[in-house]
Amino acid sequence: MPKLSNKIKIILFIDLILFSICFLGIYQTIKKAGLEPTSHVSFEVKEGKVLVLNILDSTFEECFLPGDILISIDGHFISSKEDIEFVFDSFEIGEKTNINLSRNGISIKEQVNLPQYYSWFYLIVQIIVGGVFFVLAVFVFYKCPNYLTANIWHWGSISAAIIIMCTWGRFTISPTGSGQLIRIMFSIAYAFVPTLLLHLTFIFPREKLQHLNRLIYPLYSFSILLALWMTVSFLFATVQTSIDWFHNFIIVFNINRLYFSVIILFVIGNIIHSYITAHEESERRKIRWVLLGLATGPPAFVIFWQIPQLLSIDSILPEEIIVLFMIVVPVTFTISIVKYHIFDIDVILRRSSVYFITFSIILLLYIGLVAIAAFFIGSITLSTSIIASVITAIIIPLIFEPARRRVQHFIDQKFFRVHYNYRLAQRSFTSDLNNCINIESMAQMVVEKLDELLKPECIGIYLLKENSKKWKLNAEKNCKSVSLKTINQLAKINEESIHIVFSNNLFVESAVEFEDISKYALSADILALALPIETQKKNTVGILVCGKKKSDLQYSLEDVDLLKTICNQTGLTIERIRLQKKLILQFEETQRLEELNQTKSLFVSSVSHEMKTPLTSIKMFADLIQSKKNVTETEKKEYLEIIEGESERLTRLIDNVLDFSRIERGEKKYNFTEINLKKVVDSVLRSMKYQLKQYDFQLDVNFPENEIIITADADAVIEAISNLISNSIKYSSTNKYLSVSLIDKDEKKIVEVSDKGTGISDEDQKHIFDAFYRSKQKNVQTLGGAGLGLTIVQDIMIAHNGKIEIESKPNQGSTFRLIFPTNLL
Ligand code: ADP
Repeated sequence: MPKLSNKIKIILFIDLILFSICFLGIYQTIKKAGLEPTSHVSFEVKEGKVLVLNILDSTFEECFLPGDILISIDGHFISSKEDIEFVFDSFEIGEKTNINLSRNGISIKEQVNLPQYYSWFYLIVQIIVGGVFFVLAVFVFYKCPNYLTANIWHWGSISAAIIIMCTWGRFTISPTGSGQLIRIMFSIAYAFVPTLLLHLTFIFPREKLQHLNRLIYPLYSFSILLALWMTVSFLFATVQTSIDWFHNFIIVFNINRLYFSVIILFVIGNIIHSYITAHEESERRKIRWVLLGLATGPPAFVIFWQIPQLLSIDSILPEEIIVLFMIVVPVTFTISIVKYHIFDIDVILRRSSVYFITFSIILLLYIGLVAIAAFFIGSITLSTSIIASVITAIIIPLIFEPARRRVQHFIDQKFFRVHYNYRLAQRSFTSDLNNCINIESMAQMVVEKLDELLKPECIGIYLLKENSKKWKLNAEKNCKSVSLKTINQLAKINEESIHIVFSNNLFVESAVEFEDISKYALSADILALALPIETQKKNTVGILVCGKKKSDLQYSLEDVDLLKTICNQTGLTIERIRLQKKLILQFEETQRLEELNQTKSLFVSSVSHEMKTPLTSIKMFADLIQSKKNVTETEKKEYLEIIEGESERLTRLIDNVLDFSRIERGEKKYNFTEINLKKVVDSVLRSMKYQLKQYDFQLDVNFPENEIIITADADAVIEAISNLISNSIKYSSTNKYLSVSLIDKDEKKIVEVSDKGTGISDEDQKHIFDAFYRSKQKNVQTLGGAGLGLTIVQDIMIAHNGKIEIESKPNQGSTFRLIFPTNLL
């Protein structure tokens, strides 16, 4: 609510006084006596003489005959219709007046009882229309007291209200002088209305002239001159009851009338010019309201009153009803100035033009049918119109809707700038977004569709990576030059001030509410719009940026509304897709845990099985040594070797299990010292001698001449090499060949274990270092194992800053390389 400053209070006070004067004006019109030309007696002026034209009220038939020449009323010579009104305006209703007439050259004196000039219905309409002008004028001023347009409209509309309510009435009402005061107010209002209206069209909806004052001040001076001249001449005319001074008044009044007509024509032209040259759609929409008012009120006069009068037929509607149409003018002007989008002007105009055209088509069809029927029947009779009516009645339901739709489409395309159907576009976006299951393709879809629809120079969607504060340009067209820093800035401001539309005011209509982008962003010059993409909880998850339109048109309110809606829906879609993804991940995690559980139980059973085999043979050979009587020394040695070998296998297995659990808990410790790799490999081979011999392996050992010293944990290295060799033994069922080589290559010391066994498929190679992983191949599965060996080897190599490499082909064998750096660091 605007704060009432002193200036506003004074103006509202003046309005109050003027309003009271207007009511006094109504009073003097109620009190007006005289002969009303449409209900009592009408006169015409011929060759400078005033003649009685028609007697409409039979009570005056006694006094007047058509063709009587009016000579004088109450001693005042009459030379115009205005003279009659002026003289009657000093009389009271019911008062007798002496009228001198000349009938067929004979002078006649008549006494006429003057009736009330205006009907009560007319007076009520006058109060309503004038009142609406007045109240809306005050409303506009009250709403925007500091807006020049509102101020000018305020005075213009109040002046119009004064013209309507203080029209010519009885100027002799008491208290003395009040009649004159009203006529003075009327004159001032009449002189100022055109100038104020003209002024208005130069400043609303935009300022049009650079040196407007040079034009408008002389015109205001002219209005003052007219008002003064009318005031003075009327005062003289009434104080001295001088018809000569009244003639003087009429001269100025006619000059004022001419001025009024010329300016009104100019005003209409100026409004149309503003419409054509409007820079913005919002401006055009404001003018459409004004045009709607101008196109409804005044033409109603022409169509329902002037044309029937010209054709000398009775008016279709009473004059008072037509005056009521004038209410449209202040209403539409007020909407346009104060808040033009209370109603959607486009909808009103579109609907009315669509229905107008459709009804016209149907009317033409009807007339055509009547004409055809008349052609066949011979003349327009009741039966022709009945036939035509029946046929039209049958056709209307069939053609109305399709015709209306066609006309609507035509009008939308031709006259309204929205080249896309807002609702259709929105619906199509919604359905496409609902079908999106992937954020990347969703962003791509939105960018492509918007690019097609709005045709911007560049467009892009930036999304915040999930669980991070980093932005990513997910989909774009010519948008790479917008820096991520800009996006970051925009998102930050948006979070702080909650859902802002950022915009560059050059590229959007002023009706769009926005924050100036250049205040916040670096790439402001190439961006026309930036809108946040938010989740339901209003967290910014993305930013949509658009460059200016290729067509150089500005983004309209509809465009921005559409973009806002799409951003909202995109935000919700992102949320949905992420939630779905989370659910899938959760599902996968549960599945993985289930698999792990299965693997663990498999592990327990295979470890027990693995343990059982060596234990059984250890027990068996220990028993043999104990119970067999004649055990030879060689046999004994052989049995003990078996027991030693099996214990070795058992120890390795147990070591692996223990090691793995230590690795998992992060507790495995390494004791680094300088070790001689040759010796270490040698000791491993010695400990595996039994197994190699047992399975009849061909062993190939290649050591370089020099010693190879590395810093390492001896036990761990032994464990790693033992695992590789025992795998080679285990996975070589037919071709039993093992090669162990030591390579001293620059800074790297390599232990290479090679076999010609089953080999490992490419798919298996990706997983063999995972804990518990065992190839799904049948020949591997039957062999048993815990799937821990290579996991531990890899861990050992990582701890040594080294790595493990594998080369393998199914059915051809595998080569594992442990690559150690000479120095740990
Ligand atoms: P395990 O041998 O107990 O199954 P590992 O971790 O030592 O566990 O090996 C994992 C998998 O790698 C084995 O199941 C096997 O499929 C494959 N593998 C390892 N070494 C060899 C090899 N020398 N030849 C063929 N396959 C091998």
